[in-house]
Amino acid sequence: MLKRRQKIRKGFILVSFFLFPAVFYYLSPVLVVQASADGIVNGSLVVFLLMFLSALFLGRAYCGWICPAAGCQEALFSARDKRITKGDYLKWLIWTPWVISILFLAAGAGGYYHIDFFYRTTYGLSISDLQSFITYNIVLFVLIVLPAFIVGKRSFCHHLCWMAPFMILGRKIRNGFHWAALQLGSYPERCVHCHTCTQNCPMSLEVETMVNRNAMEHTECILCGSCVDSCPQNAICYNRGKPNRDPA
Ligand code: SF4
Ligand code: SF4
Repeated sequence: MLKRRQKIRKGFILVSFFLFPAVFYYLSPVLVVQASADGIVNGSLVVFLLMFLSALFLGRAYCGWICPAAGCQEALFSARDKRITKGDYLKWLIWTPWVISILFLAAGAGGYYHIDFFYRTTYGLSISDLQSFITYNIVLFVLIVLPAFIVGKRSFCHHLCWMAPFMILGRKIRNGFHWAALQLGSYPERCVHCHTCTQNCPMSLEVETMVNRNAMEHTECILCGSCVDSCPQNAICYNRGKPNRDPA
């Protein structure tokens, strides 16, 4: 049975998913390109920068606790729960040329000279006409739902997400400077090797191995706490400290 904290977490990401049609443009990788070409800082650029800043202290907690794509994908676990262990590099093949193109376009526009958080929205809402409704559904099904069915659990997060690299970079900077931040801790001596944590990890990480190596830092860990709340031995915990081991 789910612990209370996991019920709350799943509630957060489900509500976030229901709000996705309204906030879609604030997470858009396309609008940031269009706005940058006009020298405009739009809502999604602001949100991506906030994700990067949050990761300096909270790692990828956004992915575990807030992201609308998380709500959609975890709702699909009961239909398709294949684990994913490969291909995390793929999202960097998307992210890198995308970011470079944004920088070039912004430079071509003479830099950013205007902030319009509500760029291309209607009264702050994303979906306001048939075209945006169709675009939303294509993105939802092609990038999020279909990969979850065809490839496996949270495939979008592993392979396609253009937001995750901002947070991975933020976390790497935190690890490099060794400052205190939200993280996982472990007590290897308590582990009875039941595999429950590994089975429950929505990101398909080898959590049991991480516990027994006392190396809980992982670029794909979204700090969801599923392992913390499912371990029968309380061998995993949240804490706020400095990284005790260089990340894998
Ligand atoms: S759930 Fe706890 S006891 Fe079981 S393998 Fe993971 S850390 Fe060890
Ligand atoms: S290791 Fe634990 S906190 Fe990290 S993604 Fe897996 S279940 Fe969530």
